[in-house]
Amino acid sequence: MSAELRPAMLAEVWSWVISQVEQLRALAKALSARLGRGEEIRATCPVDDWTFAPRYTDGVCPLCGYRPPGVDATALPEPVDWFWPVFGTLVVASLGMSVLVIVAYNRV
Ligand SMILES: [Zn+2]
Repeated sequence: MSAELRPAMLAEVWSWVISQVEQLRALAKALSARLGRGEEIRATCPVDDWTFAPRYTDGVCPLCGYRPPGVDATALPEPVDWFWPVFGTLVVASLGMSVLVIVAYNRV
């Protein structure tokens, strides 16, 4: 391999990496949009110039309580509480691993 080829190869590898990252980003964006978390609704408070997501602040500015017009807080989707689904998955995986360990121990 000559020294002149290296920058060209590096550029080729780099462009491949960038294209993969772009594909992953597009996939994540499509997935996010499908899950209903696409473009977040943002509002800017005219009093303190604070930009916030009304979804997480009950529809009002967290600093002064300004309610942006046209944002219905009752129509906003609730943030998902992942504690119990994740905890259940952890318990099921732990039980499965316990069974596998016991089976493997008794087979030897
Ligand atoms: Zn405000």
